[in-house]
Amino acid sequence: MASEAIGRITVLGAGTMGHGIAHAAMSAGFETALFDTSNDALVRAKAAIDSVIAKSVELKKTSEAEAKFLKGRLRTFDHLAQAVAHADVVIEAVPEQIDLKLRVLREVEKHAPARAVIASNTSALSLTEMAAVLTHPARLGGMHFFNPVHKMKLVEIVRALETSSDTLQTIEDVARRMGKETVQVRESPGFVTSRINAMIGNEAFYMLQEGVASARDIDKALKLGLNHPMGPFELIDLVGLDTRLSVLEFLHKSLGEKFRPCPLLVQHVRAGRLGRKVGKGVYDY
Ligand code: NAD
Repeated sequence: MASEAIGRITVLGAGTMGHGIAHAAMSAGFETALFDTSNDALVRAKAAIDSVIAKSVELKKTSEAEAKFLKGRLRTFDHLAQAVAHADVVIEAVPEQIDLKLRVLREVEKHAPARAVIASNTSALSLTEMAAVLTHPARLGGMHFFNPVHKMKLVEIVRALETSSDTLQTIEDVARRMGKETVQVRESPGFVTSRINAMIGNEAFYMLQEGVASARDIDKALKLGLNHPMGPFELIDLVGLDTRLSVLEFLHKSLGEKFRPCPLLVQHVRAGRLGRKVGKGVYDY
């Protein structure tokens, strides 16, 4: 479908990523539907979107009138069939569990228009495996957004084995209309960003374990010496140590020894030091 013909986007899952993607879709002028099985999640998502819009009004980037108009573009749903019924593009952002994603995608195919393009925001799972549950696998590709969506510039556009060029073009155009930069990636574990990031974070843990330097000094070295905006431990505390460990386990299984999770990281997870979300990770908050 030509990108100009895309007017309606449905986002599945209203969590950390889903609400951010919905906000990006609304801001780009798409009629946006946001679906979640949890009503609480929908309420939280709306509040989070309103607060990003309010901040933009405060900074005078958006007028009061535009903000009102913008909010009018969002509809929330607790029923998947209704949420996708008129979608041109469906972006799934449900939790990172393959069985759940496959189940949701089968439902999407049942209820969305046949012309709709389907994208997954998975961080690392196989898009080819997801496409394989569809009658028309060519209509699915990856749109890997970053957290927080309204601040992060990049979307990785991922081509699964059978993704068509039309599908790829559509999702790339949608990302650009949202004001994002894109890179095209052939499906492979962790794409470009999750793979490199996991490697740096794991190596930082090995250095900490070996006593090469303190966590603070490793973070400082990467920020001031290599111009990274955040140190690897600050970042892992933000992402969640459990999340990072599961990405590393997946990369270790699929790409081999160089991704073996550092024992000190495993120990932190066992100790419940999961990062900012629980008030303690590599650092205490
Ligand atoms: P999250 O846990 O914050 O949100 C997931 C939402 O999905 C929840 O609101 C939950 O109620 C909802 N949900 C559960 N089952 C559902 C169903 N059957 N149908 C619809 N909604 C359902 O998760 P998240 O961090 O937003 O991650 C979502 C996806 O985005 C994952 O694939 C993740 O790997 C990917 N991702 C996450 C990040 C990140 O930094 N958090 C970055 C890039 C990509």
